[in-house]
Amino acid sequence: MQAYPAVESQQTKWIRNLRGERNPVSPASGCAALHETESLGDGQFVNANVVFPVNSECPFTCVMCDLWKNTLAGPTPGGFVVRQIAKALAALPRAQWIKIYNAGSFFDFHAIPLADYRAIAELLQDYERVIVECHPAFVDERVLAFRDLLPGRLEVAMGLETVHETTLKLLNKRCNLTQLESAARWLGEHSIDLRLFVIVRPPFQQENEALTWGLRSLEFANDLNACATILIPARAGNGAMEELQKRDLFTPPHIKTVEYLLQAGLEMNKSRVYVDTWSPSWRLTCSCDEARVVRIQEMNSCQAITPAISCDVCNSSLEYI
Ligand code: SF4
Ligand SMILES: [Zn+2]
Repeated sequence: MQAYPAVESQQTKWIRNLRGERNPVSPASGCAALHETESLGDGQFVNANVVFPVNSECPFTCVMCDLWKNTLAGPTPGGFVVRQIAKALAALPRAQWIKIYNAGSFFDFHAIPLADYRAIAELLQDYERVIVECHPAFVDERVLAFRDLLPGRLEVAMGLETVHETTLKLLNKRCNLTQLESAARWLGEHSIDLRLFVIVRPPFQQENEALTWGLRSLEFANDLNACATILIPARAGNGAMEELQKRDLFTPPHIKTVEYLLQAGLEMNKSRVYVDTWSPSWRLTCSCDEARVVRIQEMNSCQAITPAISCDVCNSSLEYI
C-alpha cells in the first residue's frame, strides 16, 4: 500500500480502498434514534430527541469518517427520510429539541431531496430547536428554505475538525478555514445558530500538538460565535484510520488531553462545550483514568469545572505527552 498521499486529489482513492462493507439497510427498519438531555449550564437542561436517518452517502471522503457505513449506495428515494423520521419520532418521548444527524449534510439534495423539506418540517412543528448537520459547501439559500418552514429555531452543526490548516488538508475535508468561517458568518446573519465539532487528536497530530491545536480550535469556535462546541476524540474503525495507526500517523487521544480541553473550553466561558461520549476511544494508562471519565461526564452535564482528579501514580500532570 502506498504512503498516505499529501495531495487531496489522491487521498479519496487511498481512503476508499481501505473500506469494508456498508451495514445492510432495510427500507422498512426505520433508523437509529435516542433520547438525551443536554445541559445549558446554570442547572438548566433540555430534552432532545436524536434521529439518525439513513440516506445516500456524503460526497466527501474525510479520512476519519465512518459515517458512510450506514448510508445507501445509490440516491435517496423521495420520502425515504421522511418515513424514517416519522417512525423514529413515534417511538420517542416528547422533547424540546431535535437533532437530525443524517451521516452527511442535511442540505445535500442527494441525501435529502428538496421536495422532502416540507414533510420533514411538518414532523418538527412542536420542537423549540431543530439541529441538523451540514458541510459548509451546502450552506446557502436552501438552508433558508428549510428554516422558513420551522416555528422553532434552526441550528446547523458543522465540522470544524481542527484549525491546523495542514492537518485539515490531510483529512481530505475539502473545506478550508476561510470557507468554514464564511458559512458560519452567513448562518449568523440569517439568525441560524451554529454548533461546531472539533476532533481531539486527529490523525497526523502528536499528543502535544493535539493540546495546542485543540485549544486554538476552541478559541476559533468562540470567535465564530458557536453556541456549542463538541469535542470528538478521534477513533479508528473505518479501515483508513487503522492503516494510519499502523504507520504511526494516528493514535487515539489520551483521556487527559480530552479532559484538559474540556476544562479549557469551559474556562473560556463563551460557548457550551461537551465531549462526545457516544463512542469513547481515548487511551487510558493509569488507575485514575476511570475517575477522569466520570469527571468528563460530570463537566458535560453541569457545564462547569469540577474538582481536579489527583493521583500519586501519574501526578495528574500532562507529562504523558
Ligand atoms: S463531510 Fe462529514 S459526513 Fe462527509 S465524509 Fe466528511 S466527516 Fe464524513
Ligand atoms: Zn494517575
